Amino acid sequence: MGRADPRHWRLWSLPRGVAAYVLVIVVLAATVVAVTGARASVTGWEWAWFGALTVAAIVHLEAARAIERIRELDEGTPYTHLQSVWFFAAILLLPVPLQAALIAISFSHEFVRVFRGRAILHRKVFSAATVILAVAAATLVLNAFYPAAPGPFVSAADGLTGTVSVVIAGLAYRLVNYTLVIGAILAANPGKPAMRALGHLSDQLIIAGAVGLGYAVAVLAVHRPWAVPILLATVLALHLGLLLPQFRAASRTDTKTGLVDPAWWNDLAEQELERARRLDGTVGVLLLDLDHFKRVNDRYGHLAGDAVLRAVADAVKHTVRSYDLVGRFGGEEFAILLPGVEHTEVTATADRIRAAISVLSIDTTDRTGARVTVTGLTASIGAGAFPATATELSPLLLTVDDALYRAKNGGRDRTVRATALDASGSRQ
Ligand code: GH3
Ligand code: MG
Ligand code: MG
Repeated sequence: MGRADPRHWRLWSLPRGVAAYVLVIVVLAATVVAVTGARASVTGWEWAWFGALTVAAIVHLEAARAIERIRELDEGTPYTHLQSVWFFAAILLLPVPLQAALIAISFSHEFVRVFRGRAILHRKVFSAATVILAVAAATLVLNAFYPAAPGPFVSAADGLTGTVSVVIAGLAYRLVNYTLVIGAILAANPGKPAMRALGHLSDQLIIAGAVGLGYAVAVLAVHRPWAVPILLATVLALHLGLLLPQFRAASRTDTKTGLVDPAWWNDLAEQELERARRLDGTVGVLLLDLDHFKRVNDRYGHLAGDAVLRAVADAVKHTVRSYDLVGRFGGEEFAILLPGVEHTEVTATADRIRAAISVLSIDTTDRTGARVTVTGLTASIGAGAFPATATELSPLLLTVDDALYRAKNGGRDRTVRATALDASGSRQ
């Protein structure tokens, strides 16, 4: 609603300098398209290539959509980067207005289908404008090398000079896009260290790879048009193949708390025990159950209960080290794996976690929608370690669970250390 009315655009909430910068870039891109559009005459082949690249870009966006949707919605995911394959092919095959049309279609499709309108419109329009200026800059480079090229640049750009011209065009494409985007980031966040705005090296490598593949697409489009689908399949296979492990990881994560699920926790715990066996190491294990959690649900409702669970999960994660593994085992039960922690140290970690939970103050809403603050949470924890408590995972978990049970029976809000099992599996 508000979005349709220009007076309500989020653009105007930007500092005036940043909004002006964004507008200048967008107007510049529109001007480039208008000026080149007025002079362009498009051949039949160019229309055909434009159609093929548009189809490829959309098939690519659609195929990767399911995977991308589960990734965080942050700016500049490899998603848009990989569309550079088609954008760079367009530089080598098409006149500027058709390049711009391809970019506009790709960004619009992404906005509607991937971000489903949740992304900020002016950012996406700005991004598209920077890409249009980038392809125009790359086209200028190729034009400087081949001012009188009768057909697409990719046909003219042959031999060593051709390769050099394509590499410089690729650099121009990246540099212009990158500089304009970083300009906006720095203008919007004056306090941000310039180094942080530069982003990851992996982004640069992905773009370099995409530009290289784009060149291959353009060459094949001219010399072996029917081979282009093979490159489309290649791009899809690489993109999905690289992201699939992340996808799997996400599907093994508990959606409510972001913690690993029990099956995954068990797999990783087995691996960790195996490693400890080889290296003569130790592995601590904690089982935690919130005390009287049902009362939170009864008093404030399940939504508040869920908010508490998330806050507890975060508190546990932040209390342990980054390589400790926190899993959600049941409703409000958590399992924590502590590689390298000994039998004598586990209770100290457990008590740190209990202390972190006891100071939580969680703002949420109750059943009626009224704001409430939940405090005074306590937890009971059973603690044990490989190999002192037990030398196999299941008996280890059983004895630690027994310790948790004793913590509950002993009055809750405490840590109980598991009794060690002897070699035959009975308690010592
Ligand atoms: P105690 O452990 O101290 O004996 O008491 P408790 O009230 O915590 O009892 P218990 O561990 O047996 O019950 C767990 C309760 O957790 C039952 C259920 O209402 C609640 N629960 C389980 N899963 C969820 C969940 O995903 N969301 C919410 N809101 N509540 C959950
Ligand atoms: Mg409980
Ligand atoms: Mg429980």
